[in-house]
Amino acid sequence: MTPTQQKHADQIRALEALAEHDAELRRIEARIAEGETQLQTLTRELSSLDARLSSEKASLVEMHKTMGDLTQEGRQMSTQIDRSREKLSRARNERENIAVERELDELRRLVRDRDDELKKLAPLSEAAKKSVADLEVRREKVAAELESSESGSQAGIRDAKAEAEVARAARAELTKKVPAMLLKRYEQTLSRKGSGLAKLHKGLCLACNISLQPQLYQRIMRYDVVDQCPNCYRVLAPPPLVEGPESEAT
Ligand SMILES: [Zn+2]
Repeated sequence: MTPTQQKHADQIRALEALAEHDAELRRIEARIAEGETQLQTLTRELSSLDARLSSEKASLVEMHKTMGDLTQEGRQMSTQIDRSREKLSRARNERENIAVERELDELRRLVRDRDDELKKLAPLSEAAKKSVADLEVRREKVAAELESSESGSQAGIRDAKAEAEVARAARAELTKKVPAMLLKRYEQTLSRKGSGLAKLHKGLCLACNISLQPQLYQRIMRYDVVDQCPNCYRVLAPPPLVEGPESEAT
C-alpha cells in the first residue's frame, strides 16, 4: 500500500466508526422523541381525566345537596302534617274540617313530590358515584404509567438525553479523525438521507444500488481516491484492501 492509499484507508475506517456511532445516536434520538410523544399523550390524558373528575365530583356534590334539601323539606312537611291532623281532631264545624282536609291533601302532595324527586335522584347519584370511582381508577393507572414507563417517563427521557449528550461528546472526538472536507460531504448526505456512508460491492453502491463507472469503482476499491456515489452522494466505503495477486478490486 502506498502512503496515499494508507491515508485513504484510514479516512474510510474513521468514517465507518463515525457512521456506526451516528446510527446509534439516531436510535437514542428516536427514543427521546418517542418518549416525549408518549409523555405528552399521557400528560394530556391525565389532565383530561382530572377535568372530568372534578366536573363529575361537582355534580355529585350538587346532587347530594339537593337530596339533603329534599329530605329536610320532607321532614318539615311531615311535622306539619302531624300538626294538621291534630287541628283536624279539633275542628269545630264542617267548614273548618274541609279547610284542614285541603291543607292535609296539599301537604301530602308536596311530600309525595319530594319522594318522587328523591327516587329519581338516587340512581343518578349512584351512577355518578360509580363514574367517579371508575375515573379515579383510570387516573391512577395513567399516573402510575407516567411514573414508571421507561421511555415515556420524565426519568426515562432524562436518561436518554444524558446518553445522547455523552454520545455527542464522543462523536466530536471521532470527527477529529476525518478530514474537514470529507466530513462535510458525509454530514450533508447524513442530514438529508439519514446516512452518509455506503458500502461498495461488485460495482454497485449498496445504498442506492447504482452501478458505478468501472474505472471509478476500481480506483475507489484500490483506495486511490475517496469519492462519493454519483447518484446518492454518500461517501463510498470499500472493504479493507487485500494485498496480493488476487486483489478483489473488480
Ligand atoms: Zn449510491
